[in-house]
Amino acid sequence: PLTSNDAIEEHRICVCVRARPLNKKELSVKDLDVITIPSKDVVMVHEPKQKVDLTRYLENQTFRFDYAFDKNSTNEMVYRFTAQPLVETIFERGMATCFAYGQTGSGKTHTMGGDFSGKNQDCSKGIYALSARDVFLMLKKPSYKKMDLQVFATFFEIYSGKVFDLLNRKAKLRVLEDGKQQVQVVGLQEREVKCTEDVLKLIEMGNSCRTSGQTSANAHSSRSHAVFQIILRRRGKMHGKFSLIDLAGNERGADTSSADRQTRLEGAEINKSLLALKECIRALGRNKPHTPFRASKLTQVLRDSFIGENSRTCMIATISPGMASCENTLNTLRYANRVK
Ligand code: ADP
Ligand code: MG
Repeated sequence: PLTSNDAIEEHRICVCVRARPLNKKELSVKDLDVITIPSKDVVMVHEPKQKVDLTRYLENQTFRFDYAFDKNSTNEMVYRFTAQPLVETIFERGMATCFAYGQTGSGKTHTMGGDFSGKNQDCSKGIYALSARDVFLMLKKPSYKKMDLQVFATFFEIYSGKVFDLLNRKAKLRVLEDGKQQVQVVGLQEREVKCTEDVLKLIEMGNSCRTSGQTSANAHSSRSHAVFQIILRRRGKMHGKFSLIDLAGNERGADTSSADRQTRLEGAEINKSLLALKECIRALGRNKPHTPFRASKLTQVLRDSFIGENSRTCMIATISPGMASCENTLNTLRYANRVK
C-alpha cells in the first residue's frame, strides 16, 4: 500500500507504470488478464490465471519501477505520486515534464486529459487539470503570492514532425532555434489563465480541435503527441514551466513497414521521437553535458526541459492488461525500464 510519504522522496526522474482494467471489448472476446501488481513498485507479466489452451508460452517477467499502479488506481492517486511532486518545481524556477507513454488504448489520454469515453467528457480528473488546480493552490501561499506570478497555458500537437496549435484552430507553427540554442515555437498561443475553470475550458477546446474532422479520436491521437503546458511568468519573464505530454501510441513505431507511404513516414517519425525522448531523459538523469534533443521535433521543442539544474521528469507508462496486448506491453515495460 502507498503512503503519502512515498511521494515526498526526491527524484529527478520518476518512472511508473499504470495498468487499466480489462475493457468491454477485451472481455467480449474473452481476452485474459496477464498483469499482476503484487506490490507498490513491481509489475509482473505472466500466463493467465485461468486454464486455457495457449497458442504460445508466455514466460513470467518481473519489472520494478518507482511506482506501479494497478487497475483499481484512480487518476487522483496516480497524480499524487507522479505530477503533483513536480508542481513545486516550477515555483522554484524549474522545469517539469510528465509523459504518458504506451500503446494506443492503454490509457494515456484517460490519465492525462481525463475521461473522454462515450458521452462522458470530463477533463477535470485528468493530470492536466489536477496539476492546474494545484498550481492555483500554490499561488495562494504567502511566499508565492507576493511574487506576483502570472499563469499561462499552451496546448499543441506534434504530428509527423510538424507542430499545430490546438488553441488556434490547428495553425501550423514553425520551430526556430536561435544562436543561443533557444528553441522557439513561433506564434504559439499562450493564454493567460486565472483559475482552474479557465484551464478546463482550454483543455476542452484543445481536445475538440485535436480530433475535429477525424472519424475516430484514437485514430488521429495515436499518431500525434499532444503537449499541454502550464507556464509561470514573473514580470513577463518565464519563471517555470510544466509540460504534460500525451505521447503518440508506441505501437505506431512499428508502422515503418506499412504499405502506405504516409503511414510509413509517420511510423518512422514516431519511432525517432520516442527513441530521442528516451536518450534525452537518460542524459538528464546522468547529468550528461550532451543532450541529443535535435534528433526529433518533440525533443527539440522540449529542449529547455532536458537541461538545467532544476529539471525534473516523470514518465507514466500505461499498459493494457490483456494477453492479446502482451507484446506491446512488454515493449512498453522494457522502454520504461531503460529510461532511468
Ligand atoms: P490511449 O490514449 O492510450 O489510446 P485511452 O486513454 O483513450 O487510451 O483509453 C482507452 C479506453 O480505455 C478509453 O475508453 C478509456 O476511458 C479507458 N480507460 C483507460 N484507462 C482506464 C482506467 N484506468 N480505468 C478505466 N478505464 C480506462
Ligand atoms: Mg489517446
